[in-house]
Amino acid sequence: MANFDTSGSFRTHRFQRRPVRADDVQVRIDFSGVCHSDIHTAHGDWGPQHYPLVTGHEMAGVVTAVGSQVSRFKVGDRVGVGTYVDSCRTCEECRAGREQYCLNFALFTYGNPLPEYADAADYPGGYPLGGYSTGIVVRDKYVYPIPKAIDLKHAGPLMCAGVTVWSPLRNWGVGRGSRVAILGVGGLGHLAIQLAGALGAEVVAFTTSAGKAGDIRRFGASDVVVNSDPDQTAKYTRHFDFILDTISATHPLDPYVRLLKRGATLCRVGIDNTTLANEFGAFSLTAAQNSLAGSNVGSVRETHEVLAFCAQHGIRPQVEVVPARQVGAVWPKVVDKAARYRFVLDMSDLR
Ligand SMILES: [Zn+2]
Ligand SMILES: [Zn+2]
Repeated sequence: MANFDTSGSFRTHRFQRRPVRADDVQVRIDFSGVCHSDIHTAHGDWGPQHYPLVTGHEMAGVVTAVGSQVSRFKVGDRVGVGTYVDSCRTCEECRAGREQYCLNFALFTYGNPLPEYADAADYPGGYPLGGYSTGIVVRDKYVYPIPKAIDLKHAGPLMCAGVTVWSPLRNWGVGRGSRVAILGVGGLGHLAIQLAGALGAEVVAFTTSAGKAGDIRRFGASDVVVNSDPDQTAKYTRHFDFILDTISATHPLDPYVRLLKRGATLCRVGIDNTTLANEFGAFSLTAAQNSLAGSNVGSVRETHEVLAFCAQHGIRPQVEVVPARQVGAVWPKVVDKAARYRFVLDMSDLR
């Protein structure tokens, strides 16, 4: 299911993935999660794109072929593919296991020019095409076994939404006794509440949707603040050890920075196409020595970790499975915050 322009409408597009190389895994994609990044990218919010564009970076499916040097996978294995399908594997960041921050640029699953280490001949049309498709061929390092306990329809959203919140929760040491705020309860936020809770933190969720309060408590939050109600918010002044901001739209940050303990960090993972300039006062960070940070998806190791942690703790995304051809009707619902909490495309609709 491809976009042919920035309108967000879809047509089917037939293309051929590369032949399986020695270290490649060929995957039949059964389910593909719908991420807000797909929509931003297709609309050109994050820069001009090649069209036809195939988005999708939350894939779950089954191995259908492996290259001669692949030992970690065999045909029939249940696997996931996420937001990047290669990195240089030689730079300092790659060697340290932070592939998403590769100095030579991670090869994101769709929507960017090829880094220099990649060969255009390996990608149909010379650029990467994503997961709203029936299959993909990926270097084995960037393919993840799905634990038995996790259904494939639940695995996809862990590949982007799950690891995108897991990585900062771990990086900033969230654990037993931490007080954590989660801003925004969508695809990322509803997983962040569950993960932070299972790590032992006290979790407070901030949402603009009063109707989500029941769900949010079920996900494990101890309190829900709706529309940043000033009275409800004031009681959390200088309260939190860490704030994870999953809101993918422009919003003021100062009311939330105030809720951080001295020296604590607010980390942004939801982004749109604007600058932060009008979200942020000059004195915001100096009042209590606070930090504003960002984080992008997660490493290969963190992706394996979040899958294992979710299997162990019974954490799952709450998904609504829809036939792949209906993706054009699904995107406006994501934009309108009507997802509860992740749409997942059933790719069998295209076979
Ligand atoms: Zn995503
Ligand atoms: Zn690298």
